[in-house]
Amino acid sequence: MPEFDCIVVGAGPAGSTASRELAAAGARVLVLDRAQFPRYKACGGGVPLRTEKLLPFPIDSVVEDSVSLLQVSHKGSSRFVQDSGKPFAHMVMRERFDALLLEQARKAGAEFRPGTTVRALEANGHVTIRAEDGFEATAPYIVCADGAHSPVGKMAGLGGGIAECAAWEVEVRAPAIRRRAFRGTALIELGYKPWGYAWLFPKADILSIGIVLHPNQAPAMKDRVRDYITALGLGAADVDVARGHKVRFRRGGETIASERALLAGDSAGLADEFTEEGISYAVESGRLAARNILRGLGGGTISAYQRDIDCEVMPELRAARQIGHMFYGMLNRAPKPWMFASSHVGYLWGAFFAVQRGESTYAREAARIPLLPGIAQRRLDRQDRGH
Ligand SMILES: Cc1cc2nc3c(=O)[nH]c(=O)nc-3n(C[C@H](O)[C@H](O)[C@H](O)COP(=O)(O)OP(=O)(O)OC[C@H]3O[C@@H](n4cnc5c(N)ncnc54)[C@H](O)[C@@H]3O)c2cc1C
Repeated sequence: MPEFDCIVVGAGPAGSTASRELAAAGARVLVLDRAQFPRYKACGGGVPLRTEKLLPFPIDSVVEDSVSLLQVSHKGSSRFVQDSGKPFAHMVMRERFDALLLEQARKAGAEFRPGTTVRALEANGHVTIRAEDGFEATAPYIVCADGAHSPVGKMAGLGGGIAECAAWEVEVRAPAIRRRAFRGTALIELGYKPWGYAWLFPKADILSIGIVLHPNQAPAMKDRVRDYITALGLGAADVDVARGHKVRFRRGGETIASERALLAGDSAGLADEFTEEGISYAVESGRLAARNILRGLGGGTISAYQRDIDCEVMPELRAARQIGHMFYGMLNRAPKPWMFASSHVGYLWGAFFAVQRGESTYAREAARIPLLPGIAQRRLDRQDRGH
């Protein structure tokens, strides 16, 4: 049976980043994915600029557009545009973006095995995986970067109790003249209860249009997206792909590390609850996973991973959740005045753009607001306890 220093399951942004960093440090890494690459992933493909700062290589070759304008609307009206002056997010197609991250991992020396669905995991001093096609491999450590459903994370007994919701995404092949009108602009449509938004993100040849809603609203997602497409005047355009996927949110002390296994990215629930963005946290947690596996390979343990996530990622996810709670709370209570106020308070959007560009953080911005984040957190804690 082939032996490695680490097996990484999943070649999305979390798995490819962990594999690249491990291989670059000299570890023997096997990265497996059930899919053949490049593979489609249901995703808006909005990559905040701060993600680039976490990667040691350029991503320009896969950037289809960069947005500096944000158009916000509420049930089709109260529309306003905020100009960030310079790009705050890149727009990518995930098959190309993920293929680039994987290529960098392979260049660093990671071995990739596509079309390999892990079906069983045994942890007995070492970790042994068994795939559907009979393939087996063993290593002292495993990184489960197997996405929001995280079947392998579950086999490792990790990730229980992580909250989740669903999102729906379609790729619309609109005529070039219609697509041109959206270049450089991300569109956000609000007005879904109790929270959620629809988006339009421009790409080179298509428009990615999707929605994320509270779990109770999941059955209505497809209809809401169809309504939004019609409202945009794109009802007659061809839809190339339509697909849904889960998004998971880690909120507290859910266990994401054991003696031999770590969860990274969506598998660990590292998406924020304000924008539902997860790519930058997948990259960041991939790096932290690699750092801890290297500690383990060097004679230490990997158990500090969960503490690293708690110190370096969770403050951001907690602050994003508080901001989301305040934002949607005010929007639900007084939609028109809140849309009017937020369109005129440039500071709010300046802070948002700074976070997206990695010039500030949600935690820093939330700390500037007196009292409200603390109140929001107490209400969220009560909600989590089921009161
Ligand atoms: C509709 C939608 C829109 C989104 N839009 C955005 C956005 O615009 N911006 C943003 O930042 N985030 C967005 N997200 C979130 C983002 O997609 C995720 O946070 C991100 O993909 C997480 O990366 P990952 O590497 O953890 O997992 P993934 O990218 O999901 O990769 C997991 C990999 O594991 C593989 N795998 C799973 N099970 C097995 C198995 N048993 N054996 C082998 N391989 C396996 C899968 O094939 C997959 O390739 C969106 C999510 C959804 C659902």
